[in-house]
Amino acid sequence: MTNNIILRLAIQRKGRLSEDSLSLIKECGINFSSDTSKLKSEARNFPIEFLFLRDDDIPDYVADGVADIGIVGENVAIEKGKNIDHVKKLGFSKCRLSLAVPKEINYGGLGFFNNASIATSYPNILRNYLKENNIQAEIHEISGSVEIAPGIGLAAGICDIVSSGSTLLSNGLKEVETVMHSEALIIGNQSLSTEKKELLRKLIFRIESVQKGKNSKYILLNAPNGRLEEIVRLLPGMRSPTVVPLAKKDWSSVHSVLNEDEFWEVIEKLRAAGAEGILVVPIEKMIVWLLPMALYFT
Ligand code: ATP
Ligand code: MG
Repeated sequence: MTNNIILRLAIQRKGRLSEDSLSLIKECGINFSSDTSKLKSEARNFPIEFLFLRDDDIPDYVADGVADIGIVGENVAIEKGKNIDHVKKLGFSKCRLSLAVPKEINYGGLGFFNNASIATSYPNILRNYLKENNIQAEIHEISGSVEIAPGIGLAAGICDIVSSGSTLLSNGLKEVETVMHSEALIIGNQSLSTEKKELLRKLIFRIESVQKGKNSKYILLNAPNGRLEEIVRLLPGMRSPTVVPLAKKDWSSVHSVLNEDEFWEVIEKLRAAGAEGILVVPIEKMIVWLLPMALYFT
């Protein structure tokens, strides 16, 4: 009966996570209607159904099993997330949760917050952080527009999401402490059936192949046979580079895969080693089995 089993994925309906979440699924070759004005959408070529929800509600829905998995920021996963698994970080929607105070304050350290009040939408994370740092402060929980709280006399400082810092700046605030870093994360229900776990494993496998492909480039070049050994040493490849003879005598074509991080450095060395006609091609997907995921599923 496995063919009736369907994985339910909760995605933010509208906001900073939605677009990147939807494109990631599409890059995995999964086709569906991304009309998020609907509540649900079913994929046409993978047993997965999407629920479009507010991000704050996703951890509870996943914990209760209304959705099997969800994509949320780590900030929301930790603030709201009891009884959920943190399955996989996705590398987008990067931001941090920080403490900020009015910019004219001469801030001398966390002690500033002793006996002060802090406005936030993240009371649980903040409470833990203050406790770890032995600070006694009053937490004012508000659900939105936290950055105006100091200006209207509601709190001495705030604890909120920051990425560029421009929202803080335009409200006369400055960032003084980082409470946590966050990025988008797949969360999962803790009692998924074996069949659903298998679907999740397939989905993660595709996601990792897309991510790995984005970080890598396929490279082709021509090399004089006399310097082949040196050139091959510069190119690790997935196992080792492909070397094929050119029609021109004493020349070969070398094909390999390079990581984005080391790319320019290696290109320089290849040129110095006599490589010619270097072509670089994007990789759509790269099929690899990464160890951390293997561990999660055993
Ligand atoms: P909802 O209506 O679904 O409750 P929201 O207003 O709570 O949406 P968004 O502002 O869309 O949430 O942010 C969603 C998540 O994106 C945040 O929880 C955080 O993880 C991340 N995020 C927030 N602000 C930024 C930012 N400026 N840059 C990158 N990521 C961010
Ligand atoms: Mg929200």
